[in-house]
Amino acid sequence: MTTVRHLPYGEKAEQSYDIRLAMEEATRCLLCDDAPCSHDCPAGTDPGRFIRAIRFRNFKGAARIIRQNNILGASCAAICPQERLCEKACSRTGIDHPIMIGRLQAFAMTQENTFKMKVLEAEPANGKKVLCIGAGPSSLTVAAELAKLGTDVTIIDENEKAGGMLRYGISPSRLSDEVLEQDLDAIRDLGVKFDMGKRVAKADLEKLAKEYDAIYVGVGLSASKMIPNLKGTDLKGVDTALNFLKRARSSKGNIEKLGRVVIIGGGDVAMDCASTAKQIGVDSIYVSFIETMETMPACKKELDYIVSLGVPVMPAFKPVELTGDGHVKSVKFVSMDGASCMELAADTVIFAVGQKATDDYFGLQAHDNIFIGGDFAYGGKTVVEAVKSGKGIAMDIAKFLRI
Ligand code: SF4
Repeated sequence: MTTVRHLPYGEKAEQSYDIRLAMEEATRCLLCDDAPCSHDCPAGTDPGRFIRAIRFRNFKGAARIIRQNNILGASCAAICPQERLCEKACSRTGIDHPIMIGRLQAFAMTQENTFKMKVLEAEPANGKKVLCIGAGPSSLTVAAELAKLGTDVTIIDENEKAGGMLRYGISPSRLSDEVLEQDLDAIRDLGVKFDMGKRVAKADLEKLAKEYDAIYVGVGLSASKMIPNLKGTDLKGVDTALNFLKRARSSKGNIEKLGRVVIIGGGDVAMDCASTAKQIGVDSIYVSFIETMETMPACKKELDYIVSLGVPVMPAFKPVELTGDGHVKSVKFVSMDGASCMELAADTVIFAVGQKATDDYFGLQAHDNIFIGGDFAYGGKTVVEAVKSGKGIAMDIAKFLRI
């Protein structure tokens, strides 16, 4: 039987390893040659290397190995779908079960934070100036990689705080402000400047391109998709996932009473909405999606987490109508095989059915000294894939600037 947990808004679901547990887990690692765990990390992290450092109690060395490769090492430790990537590939699985790579990475990052370690240094100034538009994962990575080479980098973003999807599209119970700020501090320590609360329109790009040696546009996918032609989506009480998560994060969970909640979507963002709503307080809550339990896109650990909070999930149903008179009252569904239908009472309906670029940047192509990347260029992917994209773009920009 599932144990239903009640956590206050923002409280973390998983406790960190202490030194004893971290050492025990690190000792299980086989320190494989040409380690399969490393091949399956999009960001190119080599877990065997930092786990070896932990085994020798060289925690600063472990933190340095992680950060040199991935400036968002603390955030990725918290939110990466490790069970689908490095841990899935781990050789130890054949003996008993995979090494808990994500938790060991989180341990090394906690050591860095606790003992205020400075593990990276920028090279001397190279005289080049780069502007990164957007403060999400790919832009943060581009900025950090170029700053390491001695570039003068500024990040500009319309939001009050940096992080993009890391801050506004993920529940704080998965990624706390403290962990995100730790990564942002590592970027600030490299000399990157943040100019927040300013929107750059597509029309401003040409002028900025003359002021900077290169521009990176990594504005992400900050607009929410909706199901087209679905009746009732204009009713009060209907929200999008990004808007809901942003409102909850900005107010630390102090938003209007949610009442009976229905969440539509089967990805990690939908799971984040469910855990956030549950922690804020609901009269009832359901998550419904068109996929089956086997094909839904959410990570297993995120699904397990909302189930542990007592959230029921209804797979293989699609919404066909939202009813209400000014304010939403219910959502009508039909099963994907057409054999059954259901109606769920609702005061709040949250759509978590994908993101898209804002209309303003639609159609932008890279040209001259303007580079594009991240989710904006390649579609919504995981944070670690945005890191990979950011590292690649930073190399392209460095080559272009001859640094
Ligand atoms: S594959 Fe598993 S056992 Fe081998 S180095 Fe990576 S974490 Fe260690």
